[in-house]
Amino acid sequence: MVMGVKTSDSLNAIKVLVDSFRVNLPLAKTIVSKIWSLALELGKRYGEGFRFKIMDFCGTHEWTITYFGIRSLMPPSIELVAGPGCPVCVTPSYFIEEAIKLALDGVTIYTYGDVYRLRSIRFVRGAGSLSDAKALGGDIRVVTNILDAANDAKSRGRDAVFMGIGFETVAPGYAQALNRGLIPNNLKILSLVKLTPPAMFYSIDVQKGDVIEPPIMGVIAPGHVSTITGAKAWAPVSESFRIPVVVSGFEPIDVLASIAEILKQLASGKAETVIEYTRAVTWQGDLKAQSLIANTFEIVDDAWRGIGFIPKSGLRIKDRYSKYDAFKVYGIKDLTPDSWRYDLTPGCRCADVIIGKIKPTQCPLFMKSCTPSTPVGPCMVSIEGTCSIWARFGAGGLANEIAKELGLL
Ligand code: SF4
Repeated sequence: MVMGVKTSDSLNAIKVLVDSFRVNLPLAKTIVSKIWSLALELGKRYGEGFRFKIMDFCGTHEWTITYFGIRSLMPPSIELVAGPGCPVCVTPSYFIEEAIKLALDGVTIYTYGDVYRLRSIRFVRGAGSLSDAKALGGDIRVVTNILDAANDAKSRGRDAVFMGIGFETVAPGYAQALNRGLIPNNLKILSLVKLTPPAMFYSIDVQKGDVIEPPIMGVIAPGHVSTITGAKAWAPVSESFRIPVVVSGFEPIDVLASIAEILKQLASGKAETVIEYTRAVTWQGDLKAQSLIANTFEIVDDAWRGIGFIPKSGLRIKDRYSKYDAFKVYGIKDLTPDSWRYDLTPGCRCADVIIGKIKPTQCPLFMKSCTPSTPVGPCMVSIEGTCSIWARFGAGGLANEIAKELGLL
């Protein structure tokens, strides 16, 4: 009972905290005014017609920006674009096809819900997704974490594979499960974990010198990932590209404050990595988790769906745990730059959406042949996919209220 009271109290405290971030209209109004005055200052420096992009990396930030209509509060010079922060979207089709093969050969596949619906570019024995494979008799089980997969696999005793998709946030959990001997012998892990800083580097680098698109002049860095990596992981981005990077929380006020900080730095000629999300992120991050990851995984050049290989951007299981490594046990060949093939459906512009080069609405298939119920590309499948977020949520809520107060609507 005492525990219950404590839990309820702390839940209430969290709710009050979240509510104050979410509905603090005076604070939101102050920050938006600051953003407009800083944009005006930058306009004087760079010229009236100057436009630039601020890229958010994380699918949850994109959700906050879209759901709360934060774009509608921005001055015309600022474009908010989404980055590659959806691990399901960037998992190569090849690995979905390999999982389908295993499932149709009688191996149980444990996977997250959105991977279950992800379409492969090639059909495997009549299946173009894990849900198709289930319809054809495969044993596909949706789980929310690796321990559920481990417990279920142990109780069933069947040969099974867990599809280890995700970013740095999931890697410590996979590593801990292996380190503590929680994975039963009949369960193997297909480690497809991707690392985020190399992808951010790639996304900015590939657009450098683009004369059509406005330049990326600031980054809203992912808060969850940074609890593990620490803000230090993003310092090379601000140093190499001379742009501000702000590690942000996920409430609308967090995002607005992060945008204001980016503009403040730009106006004063600074380009630093700073933490807005101080209630969860430190500069060094979670050293124990980092050490677990380093002991369990090796870093490899990895393929990103529609994009190709990004150096040092993936994690594979180290030899010491090879008996749990699905690559080794099932002889799955890893992709190489020679074997990787472009893996998006013709017409799908996910590769450009993922690096913030275009908006989903610039894809000719958006909300025509490609919708949340009939997804053509991976960005429309996952709840963290930019196209899916844009399709499901429009501007509204808090943003409209503030915009009205500011006379913008
Ligand atoms: S709208 Fe659909 S087809 Fe177009 S980029 Fe997004 S996921 Fe791909």
